[in-house]
Amino acid sequence: MSPTPAAEVTRYGLFIDNQRTAPIEGEYLDVVDPATGRVWAQVPNASAKDVDTAVSAARRAFEDGDWPGYRAADRAKFLIRFGEAIADHADELAALQVRENGKLIREMAGQAKLMPEYLNYYAGLAQMPTGTTNPLHVKDMVSYTVREPIGVVAAITPWNSPLLLLLWKLGPALAAGNTVIAKPSEVTPVSAIRFAELAAEAGLPPGVFNVVTGLGSPSGTALTGHPGVDKIAFTGSTATGQAIASQAGKTLKRVSLELGGKSPNIVFDDADVSSAINGLIAGIFGASGQTCMAGSRILVQENSYDRVVAELAERADAIKVGDPHDPASEMGTVACRPQFDKVRHYMDLAKSEGARLVAGGTTAEVDGFPDGLFVRPTVFADVSNDMKIAREEVFGPIASVIPFRDEDDAVRIANDTEFGLAAGIWTQNVQRAHRVAGRLRAGTVWINNYRKTSYATPFGGYKQSGLGRENGPDSLREYTEEKSVWVDTGQGVKDPFNPRA
Ligand code: NDP
Repeated sequence: MSPTPAAEVTRYGLFIDNQRTAPIEGEYLDVVDPATGRVWAQVPNASAKDVDTAVSAARRAFEDGDWPGYRAADRAKFLIRFGEAIADHADELAALQVRENGKLIREMAGQAKLMPEYLNYYAGLAQMPTGTTNPLHVKDMVSYTVREPIGVVAAITPWNSPLLLLLWKLGPALAAGNTVIAKPSEVTPVSAIRFAELAAEAGLPPGVFNVVTGLGSPSGTALTGHPGVDKIAFTGSTATGQAIASQAGKTLKRVSLELGGKSPNIVFDDADVSSAINGLIAGIFGASGQTCMAGSRILVQENSYDRVVAELAERADAIKVGDPHDPASEMGTVACRPQFDKVRHYMDLAKSEGARLVAGGTTAEVDGFPDGLFVRPTVFADVSNDMKIAREEVFGPIASVIPFRDEDDAVRIANDTEFGLAAGIWTQNVQRAHRVAGRLRAGTVWINNYRKTSYATPFGGYKQSGLGRENGPDSLREYTEEKSVWVDTGQGVKDPFNPRA
């Protein structure tokens, strides 16, 4: 049992069957504000027994409840109402997430306002025709397919964009008629609980959307190993994705994985350099570099190299690191202490590997926040693609600049990675732009822009960056099973052993 927290610390429960629920074993985890270093909330560290309760609720809602049998139009109406509830609480949700992970309020405010549009889109998809009728090789038969919900979905999410990444799973899963158990990161659990409360207020039946908080182990592993879970939708590190996929293999759960990246952002000599620099900065320093799609390998063609390195360094040094709640800040904190240590480790590693530090490279002091997890936007030049700083995902504000000779060289370096999430191309040559886009092994390629995503466009990784896609017109496919139905339209079935009779 955890002791009762101090008065200024809010204690939350699990959210099961539309109710805040205390953990059976009474164990709680602290939630820390990365800007102040202070504990401001506690959430349950769900045990296997708690997970079992959540799975039972979700199974009941799926098997005996109304939700999967709702008309698509009614599920769509709910999603739209949920979007309206999010819009009504956009400021609260944005501030909550900033408090959890130190992301900028100016970025979060925009994201929170966009979330209802995601739900509108999924609501539209819920009502689109699904299935096919299939011309057959036999007469007097009709065959058609239907798409049905998979069942209970476990949505396991990380701390960098906890609400949006949850929405990418929750929206299509609910639109297709599944029930959901979310397991947010231990770093950012409260926003997910608030989300579930708003969904309940918007009219979602009990058991359809539940939240279990807690550590990867025991809470996450209890969920991924549970026989009552039919599908796991995960965003996070490649290592955890691999562990989840192998555990899921034992019961052949459906799995979709959105994992790490080491994305190349490629600047050709014929690029509009000032536009490219803006895109490079946004690509690596947005969200303090803590995005799976971060453009962390900046590939620059030889003739532009010195200019791009110099301008990048100057712009990185000018970024205002500060209080993430202040709209004037341009970079907030790193989200948690282990991540802060990891970023510092990679700063040291890059130096020891011989990369040339041209900006940042240290922690940052911010007035009034002596315990804040601030680091300076960092640029290393003269990186070679075989250095660890170019091969491993840092998940922080560290850019590695790598020179290249020509198009073939750029494509070779860009594809020389175990990841394949995203890539950027900066060129004013339209043939080259499309030619290179076709040669890059990545799930998303941005031409003369970077770090854009939308509900309307599929997102996911090649190679070890993932499995499956989120968003886009096929979003619901990842949350449905396909069933073929055969109908005899003839004069009845003949005796199989005596067909002439
Ligand atoms: P993880 O991949 O470890 O965690 C993501 C989610 O999975 C969290 O909810 C975590 O819970 C949970 N989890 C962890 N282990 C298991 C498990 N065995 N079974 C089921 N669920 C599990 O990421 P971290 O938050 O620990 O970050 C580590 C690194 O991952 C970062 O430094 C970064 O490189 C990368 N990362 C990549 C992301 C991406 O979008 N590609 C997003 C976040 C991180 P808990 O938080 O409680 O451990």
